[in-house]
Amino acid sequence: MSNALNDIKKDTGAIDIFEKNLVAQEHNITEIGEGVATARLRNYFEQLKTGDHSDTLYYKVNKDIYRIYRLNQAALERKNANALSTAGNARYWLTILATIIILISFPLLINFPGYVANPIRLLTEGIKDVAEKKYDKRIHLDSKDEFGEMAQAFNVMAAKLYEYEHSNISKLMFEKKRVETIINQLEDAVIGIDSVGKILFINHKAESLLNLREEAVVGKPSADVALHNDLLRTVLMRKAKQPLTIITEKKEHYFFVDSRAVYSDKKSMGEVFTLKDITPFKELDLSKTNMLATISHELKTPISAIKMSTQLISDDRVGNLNIEQKELVKNIQEDTERLLRLTAELLNMTQLETGNIQLKIQAVDPQEIVTNSIQAIQVQADQKNIHIELHRTPNLPNVLADPDKTSWVMINLLTNAIKYSRENSKIIINIISGHDQVQFSVQDLGIGIEQQYLSKIFDRYFKIPNSLHKSSTGLGLAISKEFIEAQGGHIEVKSLFQQGSTFTFSLPLA
Ligand code: ADP
Repeated sequence: MSNALNDIKKDTGAIDIFEKNLVAQEHNITEIGEGVATARLRNYFEQLKTGDHSDTLYYKVNKDIYRIYRLNQAALERKNANALSTAGNARYWLTILATIIILISFPLLINFPGYVANPIRLLTEGIKDVAEKKYDKRIHLDSKDEFGEMAQAFNVMAAKLYEYEHSNISKLMFEKKRVETIINQLEDAVIGIDSVGKILFINHKAESLLNLREEAVVGKPSADVALHNDLLRTVLMRKAKQPLTIITEKKEHYFFVDSRAVYSDKKSMGEVFTLKDITPFKELDLSKTNMLATISHELKTPISAIKMSTQLISDDRVGNLNIEQKELVKNIQEDTERLLRLTAELLNMTQLETGNIQLKIQAVDPQEIVTNSIQAIQVQADQKNIHIELHRTPNLPNVLADPDKTSWVMINLLTNAIKYSRENSKIIINIISGHDQVQFSVQDLGIGIEQQYLSKIFDRYFKIPNSLHKSSTGLGLAISKEFIEAQGGHIEVKSLFQQGSTFTFSLPLA
């Protein structure tokens, strides 16, 4: 309005600007005195519009404009002061409020993480302990909120697991103790080895026998322990069925070593070795062998005397016998022959059993052994009209053997072949020289041997059930096997029931 007033004299448009601003002022009267000043200003302005451009009027208009400005200025300053004071109040109250909030929330801030985190930490620790099978773990939380409930549930679970574990463990411990007691009280020495060869257990008997301490060897590889213990090594590597001789308390003890693979659900669990003390049986067996040796030896002389006497009686130069008497003498001769063979077999057997067999190993012509043996059984073969065929490779090399023992084996095989062949049959002998051995075989076309008995045929005292020959002892083949093996050879049989058998043995080259 002040600017427009200055321009009114030279610019007619300034009147409109003044008018417009005055109307705006008239609609914006807020302060005391402003209304009066504005109304007076309107009055002066109307005079101005009529063409009064006197300085007095200009002065009055200016004065009222200034007055209105001053009033508004004062109002602005007052409001500003009010606003400043309100802001000051607000800051004051905000500071108090913030202090109160901080004072309240500080302890809460410190305690709050612990309030939530502590139960979670306790629970985590508890779970970790339970995972490590520490079932006696309990969580103690006094709160009655969700955390308290959680702790209670955890404790119930841990208690149940503890109960379960302890009932199982005590049961298992009881069973373990019982099995250990049984194993320890066994008369036999027992050693258990797991599937990777570590020693699982060793009972008291095995401890004293092998001079080992359970605590020192359990869990260790058996191979490592065997390195420093010859006896354990022998037991672990033993394949032979012969008893193991161990000298304890200055006396020979005999043990039968048995190894048994243990399986569970077709999965190998390891091996159990048992050393069964068979000393009492062995001693009985030895006394039996000694008795047999004595009896056989004592019988041999009178039987030989009977044989000689019957030969004398049957000699016409001593006196003539009638046909019946000759028949009787012949029977006696056959019986004494059989008895002599039996006593010879028993003597051989006793020698083998006591380990008293003495071999006279030398270079021998294989054919000589065979022809001598054929001569010895020729009469028996003739009696059944059995033809003996001999085939051999030319220029046979000598073998390393005891000629007497080998002839004994050959005669035994030929005697059997004759015994189990039908009349008018034939026996084929083959002597074949090999790379480092000579093979002797005796083949008959007799009754043959059933498959089921083939593996037992070389066992001592084994006779095929219901055999026609009641007088057999079941010792001949067992002795043959021992004689051949003692000379570094090998003997075996092949047979077809009702078609014949072939016994083959080999001896090393000289
Ligand atoms: P023995 O001396 O009493 O004949 P062996 O040990 O020689 O005993 O033979 C054992 C058993 O083997 C005999 O009882 C017999 O049944 C059987 N045997 C042996 N040789 C033959 C063979 N050539 N043919 C059929 N059976 C045989």
